[in-house]
Amino acid sequence: MGHYDLERDTAREAARAAGQLCLAVRESTVGRAGYMEKAGHEPVTIADFGAQAAILSALAAQFPGDTTLAEESAADFDRLASTAQLEQVQSHLEDALGRGVSPDDIRRWLDFGHGVESRRVWMVDPIDGTKGFIRGDQFAVAIGLAVGGELVVGVLACPLLPFKADGGSERGVVLVAVRGEGATIEPLAGGPARPARVSPQSEAAQARAVESVESGHSDHSFSEGVYWEAGIGGELVRLDSQAKYAAVADGRAEIYLRHSPTPSYKSKAWDHAAGALIVEEAGGRVSDLDGRPLDFSTGARMTANNGVLATNGPLHDRILAAVKSAV
Ligand code: AMP
Ligand code: MG
Repeated sequence: MGHYDLERDTAREAARAAGQLCLAVRESTVGRAGYMEKAGHEPVTIADFGAQAAILSALAAQFPGDTTLAEESAADFDRLASTAQLEQVQSHLEDALGRGVSPDDIRRWLDFGHGVESRRVWMVDPIDGTKGFIRGDQFAVAIGLAVGGELVVGVLACPLLPFKADGGSERGVVLVAVRGEGATIEPLAGGPARPARVSPQSEAAQARAVESVESGHSDHSFSEGVYWEAGIGGELVRLDSQAKYAAVADGRAEIYLRHSPTPSYKSKAWDHAAGALIVEEAGGRVSDLDGRPLDFSTGARMTANNGVLATNGPLHDRILAAVKSAV
């Protein structure tokens, strides 16, 4: 038995249930989900609220004293969701959890662990890449656990990512990592896991990159300059969400670089915690664009870091050097 078996298994099952709930919402809205608008024009859907409630209900049941940093809140839910939307969240949650759910259960779960003082901090993004989800493209459910600021468990469900690296029709994966125990990938629908390992590629000319679809989230011309400087010559694929970390961890790309076009922007911990541990445990390297380790001890915002670079390893320093000459 490892130290974090219960945490890993709880997070894996919660991510799976949340991922299935998102797919059910997607089905019921025929591919494209309608959305509400939070502060700053950020979209949120009934699936974001339903998935967060599902995940935090599981964490609350197993780990009632833990802290959570999670993207959605009961206050936003009450402010934004119509009565019809509340009922939709309720009904999707009842299907996902297999039991009756009241509006007060939803509010309580959405805010479980917020503002609690604990060394154990869960970082939860119920739908990472909400814009991708609304477009009908990639999205992820992300759950990370840090203890004393150190990541120890990371789980990503990517309901639309193919299980096989070379494509195929079977879509939906769950990636799981525990510090020191490696990373695995398994089908979302169930089935045996296999190890997730980064690619061994060390030739820049062959190296493949992934980046955000949204140019408002990651500066496409900045990354283009860095790739040119570093001689990166492989395919560039744009993917929403932490599916980018999944692609690096499973050897489908060598480089994920993220530089916000907003100069003062500080990344949100739940956008990186799960993915970063999974890439490291798959044998890769993760740092910010100055080469510093990602610091998950600063709360919801990663105030000690500037951007993100996740790679298979051999090309990491070369990209950092190219970033230096690009800025
Ligand atoms: P992606 O799917 O890679 O486009 O990343 C989605 C995440 O980008 C969201 O979860 C947001 O937290 C984050 N985000 C929102 N605005 C910005 C911004 N101006 N710069 C960087 N990231 C952002
Ligand atoms: Mg997100």
